Amino acid sequence: MITNLRCIRCGSPLILREKRGQVGLYCASCRIGVVMLEGDLKRYVSDERMDWRGLLMTLFAAHAARLALLSPQQ
Ligand SMILES: [Zn+2]
Repeated sequence: MITNLRCIRCGSPLILREKRGQVGLYCASCRIGVVMLEGDLKRYVSDERMDWRGLLMTLFAAHAARLALLSPQQ
């Protein structure tokens, strides 16, 4: 699923991926992604509802932190 978040390194739309209970945020252009494991996702569930916004913001912050370790894309 394409999100309305953009990669801070290249500006491409970030992709939200869900598989086997894990959720990840990925930039197809930089080929850099972050994943949250099933056990940690429980923090974002309350009353059996998923806080997608909160989860997405956490993934985005983690993705940005990873990109900060890399040199800017040429
Ligand atoms: Zn990127």
